Amino acid sequence: MNSVAPLPDLSRLCVHTITTKPWPIETSAAKFAAAGVKGITVWRDTLAGRDIAKTGQLLRDHGLAVVSLCRGGFFPATSAEQRAKALDDNRRAIDEAHALGAPHVVLVCGAVPGQSLVESRKQIVDGIAALLPQCAAAGVKLAIEPLHPMYADNRSAVNTLAQANDMVEALRSPQVGVAADVYHLWWDPALESEIARCGRLNALLAFHVCDWRTPTIDLLNDRGLMGEGCIPLRQIRAWVEAAGFRGFNEVEIFSHRFWAMDQDAFLGQIVSAYRQHV
Ligand code: ZN
Repeated sequence: MNSVAPLPDLSRLCVHTITTKPWPIETSAAKFAAAGVKGITVWRDTLAGRDIAKTGQLLRDHGLAVVSLCRGGFFPATSAEQRAKALDDNRRAIDEAHALGAPHVVLVCGAVPGQSLVESRKQIVDGIAALLPQCAAAGVKLAIEPLHPMYADNRSAVNTLAQANDMVEALRSPQVGVAADVYHLWWDPALESEIARCGRLNALLAFHVCDWRTPTIDLLNDRGLMGEGCIPLRQIRAWVEAAGFRGFNEVEIFSHRFWAMDQDAFLGQIVSAYRQHV
């Protein structure tokens, strides 16, 4: 499919709190709303020391949809004790999402250097399965986010959308879906067909955007602003929408470069780049 989606207005623009990391969540909420942003994805670190339900209400009072809570996961470990600890942390994340009013928790699924990726994937599926009763009771879903293979050593053994879709099929639960992030997936020759498959599974829960810089000088914290790099954003958005996705386009940028600049100016750049390139 070669059609390209029409340029978006701001009605589906969501920004992650990590994108404007120097701001506390209250500042992000006020600034996002004033800039015309309509959704917010909350990173758990921003909730420290706060009443989570009240914070969720504050976000809604600003007119922001609470799109996701980031993040849970990190299921694999070499000992049963460590895996149980990871499950406890995920249970807390589900409780936090429920209190905040977030419909799902995004999962960075985890990996352990020295443990096979096959074993880690098995532990990931087992970990997610163990959480499903709580998810159903809380009305909170889990979104498996495949990560770029450069993170397969210690951040995620789920590295393609096909693997995430396979897990969704294996788990067979309405509580499990996928978060598709262009930064992790843009290179994949199977991307269009796997996005379509994810749509047929009714599992596409979230869509994250940013760009890929050349050269990328930091594996974690050198993401680009939309339009700065080589990711065909509008093409991928067209595939996602052809698969039935109607949720937010979430701007998630980890960047020492942008965190060092004036955050008001950066937010202005985000809105303008979103209009031009997403
Ligand atoms: Zn992401």
